[in-house]
Amino acid sequence: MSRTFETSLEYAKEQDKQDDLRKYRDLFYIQEDSIYMDGNSLGMASKPAVEKLDEMVNRWKNEGVIAWNDLYLYAEKIGSMMAPLVNADADEVTIVGSTTSNIHQALATFYQPTEKRYKIMVDDINFPTDRYAVDSIVRLKGYDVEEAVKVIKSPDGEFIDEEAIIAGMTDDVAVILLPTVLYRSAQIIDMKRLAEEAHKRGIYIGFDLCHAIGAIEMDFKEVQPDFAVWCTYKYLNGGFGSCAGLYINRKHFEMMPGLNGWFGNKNATQFQLKQEFEHEKNASGWQIGTPSVFNMAPLEGSLEVFNELGMPRIREKSLHITAYLMYLIDTKLKKFGYSYGNSTVDEKRGGHVCLQHDEAYRIAAALRDNGVVPDFREPNVIRLAPIALYTSYEEVYLVVEILEKIVKEKIYENYSAERTAVV
Ligand SMILES: *Cc1c(COP(=O)(O)O)cnc(C)c1O
Repeated sequence: MSRTFETSLEYAKEQDKQDDLRKYRDLFYIQEDSIYMDGNSLGMASKPAVEKLDEMVNRWKNEGVIAWNDLYLYAEKIGSMMAPLVNADADEVTIVGSTTSNIHQALATFYQPTEKRYKIMVDDINFPTDRYAVDSIVRLKGYDVEEAVKVIKSPDGEFIDEEAIIAGMTDDVAVILLPTVLYRSAQIIDMKRLAEEAHKRGIYIGFDLCHAIGAIEMDFKEVQPDFAVWCTYKYLNGGFGSCAGLYINRKHFEMMPGLNGWFGNKNATQFQLKQEFEHEKNASGWQIGTPSVFNMAPLEGSLEVFNELGMPRIREKSLHITAYLMYLIDTKLKKFGYSYGNSTVDEKRGGHVCLQHDEAYRIAAALRDNGVVPDFREPNVIRLAPIALYTSYEEVYLVVEILEKIVKEKIYENYSAERTAVV
């Protein structure tokens, strides 16, 4: 979509006035003198999230184990609140563990290698934990990584080539695991097309939604992936290490989950504590142990906001404010050596802007000292995420002003290029 913007501060302020999501910003713990641009790594704390956490702490204090009478089903509740974000049925989504452990669970279920079909196909630029999980599961089944992990190389190290993925769907591939939005370039993969192509060839396909969930609209009724995983502490603002999402397509509810535990047992017989495992025939059958209530409670508060607003409105602002940031990069920052690695096409771009500069590491360090929280990714990327729910247009304007100053006045030269901090 073509949009027109202006370069002035007044324009940014006017956009904020017209922003119909503006009132949601007040729900967040916006820090004075700090512009938070790292919501794609760890979303900001919000009042509804903290209230739910407090509520759970109080239930622990006041009720003890009695609270368990309803909280043992808390994962079902939170799962059903996440389902609308991907347009899945409530019983197709559960919340458990971490993204990585959910990849292990999904692959333990769907990767059933045979003599002819024994490969897992991946790309080579996804966030590496996915690859570590894939490699280890292949080893567990007795294969060498070299023989059983099929890696489709990115032509440029930035984007996944969907044609190459489809060409790689040979008869020896059992399962495909791909990101939906790439964590660096924010590329959106065409899940529907790839799922159709995979299924035509009898291959299972699953997606990692970490940078997509809460950022873009998704429709799993249409895509029909076999499984999906996602974290909830990035765009969903669930807090440090909040539990992760797991989607299992209902056509697979009869499958035996790869990793079993008592919370995957049928609710009706779980507390009878029989020695025989009877799996619940929906996504909660893929749970393993006792749900981490404190790591889900903030999410309950946060998801209320998402469900009140709906993804279309969130995405609309996200597209507009990221396009505004890209416009300012084009008009104000190009001459200082900055560029961006995103697609300018709405359908191909997730929720963050991938700013590039040869001095990105030192610029990121200088940003931190100048009141901006950025996020650096090797070797030359600063990810900037103007978040629909809480970032203002004025903040985006100010970040660009600071980026300009850091290079123009050579402020970054005061910083060492030696890698130290985590963010
Ligand atoms: C953030 C992220 C993860 C994180 O995995 P955890 O197990 O939740 O720590 C995994 N995959 C991708 C693509 C990510 O962006």
